[in-house]
Amino acid sequence: MIVIGVGHLADHLGVHRNTIRNWIREGKLPARSAPGKGYMLKEDDFNKVCQEFGLDPARLKVRRLASRGPGALASGFASPEVRTIGRRSTRLRPTPQWADVCLTCGSCASSCPISGVDGLDPRKALRMVTLGLEEELIASQWPWKCTLCGKCEEACPMNVELVAMFRAVRGLRPRDQVPGPLHKGVLMCLSRGNNLGIPRDDFLYLLEELGQELAEECCPGFRVPVDQEGANLMVTINSKEPFGEPDDLKFWWKIFHAAGESWTVPSENWEGVNWGLFTGDDESMKTFVGRIVDNMQRLKCKTLLLPE
Ligand code: SF4
Ligand code: SF4
Repeated sequence: MIVIGVGHLADHLGVHRNTIRNWIREGKLPARSAPGKGYMLKEDDFNKVCQEFGLDPARLKVRRLASRGPGALASGFASPEVRTIGRRSTRLRPTPQWADVCLTCGSCASSCPISGVDGLDPRKALRMVTLGLEEELIASQWPWKCTLCGKCEEACPMNVELVAMFRAVRGLRPRDQVPGPLHKGVLMCLSRGNNLGIPRDDFLYLLEELGQELAEECCPGFRVPVDQEGANLMVTINSKEPFGEPDDLKFWWKIFHAAGESWTVPSENWEGVNWGLFTGDDESMKTFVGRIVDNMQRLKCKTLLLPE
């Protein structure tokens, strides 16, 4: 496995560094992010790219990584593999290079908006994973205090994926110990299509009533376009609005009305807040995303608006 800086690779291939990023995103170049703003490629793939561009691989400045066995370079915070350090076992598996390259510089901690709340320090959390103190981290409040804002990752000079780490730790907490109503909301959304379990008829009645109010207040002729096939914009909704703050919905609607926008709200599976994402529940997260995609396809909408 070799590591090469994106700028260095771009210079030698004679393309813009964004082109390299696009190739990677589109799967044309089988590389992945490496610590220190570079990319990792298998030696064979690297040689193939050099060959395609008529380059001598030996002329490029690269770093070679020693193999650590199958999967050692996988982006593996959520990997189910088991690793043992001393007498402790762990279900989290930090990419070894990232753990090795953490400088303990503290840039993550100093950019974190809640650093210090209940002692939270992303750098310490990473060390806990690295040292196999996984159960302690899963049981702690830190992963749930983290807002998943990603500022720590932005600040990290070594590309450590701290957000993925915190999400994976959340996902390992037993579901009945997920704080607050989050997991209940996931179950509710799975069974009833929104986090607060608002029945379809109540939702549609509310939209009609609020639409009439808005028409009388300031938007003559206004009505909420439900399941409008071919609308430009499909809008999802945070269930707390119809549940407790229905007038907030009107702010968006006024803008759509004034702009003459073509928009719609689906009558089912309209929830825009994905608590599967927040709780590290990947399967539920995918289900909720899939429902939105299904609605987009069913209604043939071009653009999705997730107001959360
Ligand atoms: S910013 Fe990155 S390198 Fe620095 S302590 Fe945090 S995780 Fe480690
Ligand atoms: S993602 Fe979490 S740990 Fe990182 S900066 Fe945001 S709140 Fe802090």
